[in-house]
Amino acid sequence: MTKSKFEVEKRTLKIGPYEICPIPTGQFGLDGGAMFGTVPKVLWEKTNPTDEKNRIEMEARALLLKSPGCNILIDTGNGQDFVAKYGEKLGTKFAEMYGIDQNGPSLEKSLKAHGLKFEDINHVVLTHLHFDHAGGATTEVGGQLVPTFPHAQYWVQKGNLETARKPNLRERASYYPANFQPLLEKGVLNIMHGEQENFLPGISAIISNGHTLNQQVIKVSDGQTTLLYCGDMVPTSTHVKIPWLMGYDLHPLTLMEEKEKNLSEAADHSWYLFFEHDPYCDAALIERNGHDFAVTKRFWL
Ligand SMILES: [Zn+2]
Repeated sequence: MTKSKFEVEKRTLKIGPYEICPIPTGQFGLDGGAMFGTVPKVLWEKTNPTDEKNRIEMEARALLLKSPGCNILIDTGNGQDFVAKYGEKLGTKFAEMYGIDQNGPSLEKSLKAHGLKFEDINHVVLTHLHFDHAGGATTEVGGQLVPTFPHAQYWVQKGNLETARKPNLRERASYYPANFQPLLEKGVLNIMHGEQENFLPGISAIISNGHTLNQQVIKVSDGQTTLLYCGDMVPTSTHVKIPWLMGYDLHPLTLMEEKEKNLSEAADHSWYLFFEHDPYCDAALIERNGHDFAVTKRFWL
């Protein structure tokens, strides 16, 4: 695959008690047209080249907030156990269909690089239950699906869980009970009701309804340094431009308003934007650019 055309600076971040640790869980591929909606291919392919199936490279990047005595994970990537989860027919096709790399980094390997095992995670915050965010939340043990993190409390928005249980036709291929039902059965899924400041120390939930209903974008702040885990509100640094939306997004105009509001704060207060799906950087700082926004610096954290 082609290397990034961007310059990327290495930076170490600490916010309050938390070390900021990107957790790559394995790259995958999605149709480039679907990832950039109405933006013409001649514009986006300069920075995001396609493979022979017109797929662009995507990261599934979770975020570990590591602190003494408390480790918090935001999102979990695609996970594995596709046959156990999605059945023989779809499961065997799944990894191939999305070009999921099962040989590179994984949730387990990336946590291990920070000295942690699944048992060491105390909280798992799910932005939404699409499979590329919640797939790693559950796993198969002895023929049964169970929470991947045996000692963790999980967090999700009530409205998103409702959507996941009764998905509309457009999102039906993205929401699977196997990724959240075992959490409900074990009683470890904390149901959140809308925006909430400091639901965990220094961690707040901001609601975004443009991509899917009741996605929660996660703000980590100590009053000095702030990082926004953008989820699918801004999946890559290329999507910082307000009208650069995904074809998948349910409510484009709503999403544009949400981007305007949150990116204004980010530009005005130098918040780091953390990108779940950008294969070419972990995070960026942005500035206002006329009525829109532009990246000023990209980072590996
Ligand atoms: Zn999504």
